[in-house]
Amino acid sequence: MRKPIIFGNWKMNKNRQETKDFLEKVEPYLCDVADFGIAVPYTCLDIAKKYAHKMLVAAENCHYEDKGAYTGEIAIPMLQELNVEYCIIGHSERRAYYNETNESVNLKAKKLLASGMYPIVCVGENLIQFENGETEAILKKQIEESLKDISYEDMKKVTIAYEPIWAIGTGKNANSDIAEKCCHYIREVVATMINDASEVRIQYGGSVTSDNIALYLAKEDIDGALVGGAALKEESFIKMIEAIKGEK
Ligand code: PEP
Repeated sequence: MRKPIIFGNWKMNKNRQETKDFLEKVEPYLCDVADFGIAVPYTCLDIAKKYAHKMLVAAENCHYEDKGAYTGEIAIPMLQELNVEYCIIGHSERRAYYNETNESVNLKAKKLLASGMYPIVCVGENLIQFENGETEAILKKQIEESLKDISYEDMKKVTIAYEPIWAIGTGKNANSDIAEKCCHYIREVVATMINDASEVRIQYGGSVTSDNIALYLAKEDIDGALVGGAALKEESFIKMIEAIKGEK
């Protein structure tokens, strides 16, 4: 039985005071039917860890080297110094603007796992690929390359986020049938790599809101959501928690 996992991705939003305010308001609503978390800017990680009692906290990226001449980068031991356990890697914005590749995502995933951390690995096709019917081929390549050489035991610690790029921040979500089909396909690909992917959690991400989150969670192969815009406001995060409580 896979426990749903819902993560907000704040991207480059919110300061430290806003992080504290958010957690003070949202924490009382958290419940055990799902794991809930927020991925926050580096400068808010310590304050998030201070005020998060049930809420999980993720970084939005990391480097795969422990230290060195990588100006502006953050290493995994630096995250661990703040007791951060989760890290998003391979988000489509990082793939598009910062040259993130399947190879670098794979190095980061393996390093996070070797360090005892939990990667949230993002994959997804763009609009042209979707319209050309290339989604499965794109997902297969992204999964096989980004999660290469990860053992069965470690794969269970990975959360995969299926995020069609055309649905991110556009208000144009992939409907729950499309999302289920793709998450099911991802599970099949992972199963070919480690024999059994029944314990790997796969999220859908792309214009998820409190109005549609329950539809996704009702699907067999969708184990949660990665949420951008709707995770920024306390009220809307609380509404998502309430919607999940109603569904479970
Ligand atoms: C995201 O940033 O990963 C995302 C899915 O954003 P949004 O929910 O705003 O589409």
